[in-house]
Amino acid sequence: MSDATHNAILCRYGEIALKGRNRGIFERALVTALKRALSDIDDLRYIRERGRILLHRKSFAAFTAAHDDLVAEGLQRVFGLQSYSLGYMVESNLEAIEKIVGNTMPRHYDQELQAGNGPVTYRMRARRANKFFPLRSQELEIHFADLLLPQYDNLQLDLDNAAISIGVEVRENWTFVHYGKMPGPGGLPVGASAPVLVLLSGGIDSPGAAYLAMKRGSHTNFLTFHSAPYTPPETIDKVCGIVLVINRFQKPGLLLACNLVAAQKIIRDRTTEKYRTVLYRRLMMRVASRLATEIGDRALVTGDCLAQVASQTVQNLEVINNATDRLILRPLISYDKTESMALARRIGTLKLSEIQCADSCTVFAPSNPATNATLNVIDKQESRMDTDELLGLALAGVTVVNPANGETSPFRFHRTKEAQATSSASSAAP
Ligand code: ATP
Ligand code: MG
Repeated sequence: MSDATHNAILCRYGEIALKGRNRGIFERALVTALKRALSDIDDLRYIRERGRILLHRKSFAAFTAAHDDLVAEGLQRVFGLQSYSLGYMVESNLEAIEKIVGNTMPRHYDQELQAGNGPVTYRMRARRANKFFPLRSQELEIHFADLLLPQYDNLQLDLDNAAISIGVEVRENWTFVHYGKMPGPGGLPVGASAPVLVLLSGGIDSPGAAYLAMKRGSHTNFLTFHSAPYTPPETIDKVCGIVLVINRFQKPGLLLACNLVAAQKIIRDRTTEKYRTVLYRRLMMRVASRLATEIGDRALVTGDCLAQVASQTVQNLEVINNATDRLILRPLISYDKTESMALARRIGTLKLSEIQCADSCTVFAPSNPATNATLNVIDKQESRMDTDELLGLALAGVTVVNPANGETSPFRFHRTKEAQATSSASSAAP
């Protein structure tokens, strides 16, 4: 290979969560995510080897600048990827490594020299995973220092802070040479943890919470509540836009929409105004739990952040939690608003979330919501209504939304018998 343009990409992942049988699941999920993220490059081969995944084009041709853009953008969507390097895949023998370093080093050296920072500093970091290779890692590093230093007038060794750091990974069937690492998003590949259902509003926080759940390996489906006709169609359009953005980080999840308005009217008519928000949230948790069972999701995720608004005081969160036995994850619980805005900006949802639009929670919302609800008080409030009836009304209004075009179809219950019973009872109700 005489071309100085890279022909391979080395992907690294953290090994902490990789004990025993999990390793295979983890690696396969990572390869699947890589394939999805790089699906626009059609001739890639993925080589899975302990601790690393090496990608090259089937023809072994160099990557183009257009490929590089796709890689830089796509790999930021692959959770589990710790870092990656663009570099050169060569045969595992000394001559091949010398040749590729000989071909590529002058360009890096000239670049550094022209930057005008005096002598150019250099080091090599070698990793010999293949014990059959004749030189040990350190011997390889010394070999190249002896080879390169005399060839370049202004080249100096610097083991701590070198301007040019050549990485060499020697494996049995290939060797990879590179000049630097790029960070990946980290986390675990989607599929490494159990799937979850995210309660997704059009706000800034819940898309960030979905992103963080995916980052720790959970595939996410989405549930949004609306109150049509009191909320406009734009409320759902906005959520569709957000789902399209965050679904790019995983195999697309399902978007469910639930119309709460019939149940909200009963809450409005029968309970004390200041408790409405907590009562809405408890109903949302019950609906979400039931739907999670239906679609096989193990936990609920919200964008709650401690004390951000009335429904998120410690006391109110406790009362809201108590509406369901299901685990509720709140990845943003300690975030300041500026931090969750920065996260939303980074993942590309902030602009969409900033579009002003009515939310289901604001329909018949109290002007002065209680911040200190107790279970006792809320139980009394709920005893003024039939909470099963409320749940049935809400479940009867669940649809599946195609986020690409906003088209809806009814959600079909299969798993929970009660759900079927309540939804048919409620559709028969006046
Ligand atoms: P904001 O950026 O306005 O805080 P948010 O999404 O955090 O937006 P909150 O009113 O703070 O909205 O609600 C807290 C959490 O409750 C949300 O993060 C979300 O998980 C859930 N939630 C609120 N409203 C809805 C809704 N209409 N549909 C689905 N989930 C909702
Ligand atoms: Mg919030």
